[in-house]
Amino acid sequence: MDDPNAQARDDLVASNHILANESVLDAFGHVSVRHPSRPAHFLLSCSRAPELVTADDILEFDETSELVGSGGQALYIERFIHGEIYRVRPDVHAICHHHAPAIMPFSISGVPILPVYQHGAMIGAEVPLWDSRTEHGDTNLLVADREQGASLAGVLGSNWVVLMRHHGATVVGRSLTELVFRSITACRNAEFQLAASTLGPVQGLSVGEIAKAAEVNPKAMDRALAYWKSRIPARPKAPKPQPPTLRS
Ligand code: MN
Repeated sequence: MDDPNAQARDDLVASNHILANESVLDAFGHVSVRHPSRPAHFLLSCSRAPELVTADDILEFDETSELVGSGGQALYIERFIHGEIYRVRPDVHAICHHHAPAIMPFSISGVPILPVYQHGAMIGAEVPLWDSRTEHGDTNLLVADREQGASLAGVLGSNWVVLMRHHGATVVGRSLTELVFRSITACRNAEFQLAASTLGPVQGLSVGEIAKAAEVNPKAMDRALAYWKSRIPARPKAPKPQPPTLRS
């Protein structure tokens, strides 16, 4: 049976597995891609740990981040992050929201992440910090509705990464490949910056260096993705656990 979205689903599944294996995603966090033929919509898994996602889990969501069709599966509560960013960033075709250990110290301390090495330039010159309290007061730290998603998208602005205070980060890309590459290199960059800061004051790349290093050769990105994919351990076929129902 021909499924016009089969390639997009498979690529999204592979992205879930790579980002989980590289410690960007863990039991939580999620990655989406803009729908190949309905650009206001996007594809995203049902609520499941990214490492366990299969093509059958990939669902279509509309511009309000609601499920297209019916299913009954548990959904990621924070899916509004995706819908609200796609709405205001037509250049963005893939989004990852995560709580990677590499970036959490920055999210918690508020110390800005700076591009500190070649591929770190992909995070751009500025990584803004979104504080959910500014517009929404005390919350449970989840981006649980369209208003909060729109607020986050506003602070992301035209940047590639937004830190979320005491929560995590959201990363965007012009393609799924670019998104996976940027999500991983942003974490490496954060690790390097934190380690270097224990040795002395850290300065980021210059504006000129960021501009020149930010555009990575697509072949280099494909090569990196092939490597990251090769690192994923084979998973024996086993009955899949039921999706969780509460948390995103
Ligand atoms: Mn989250």
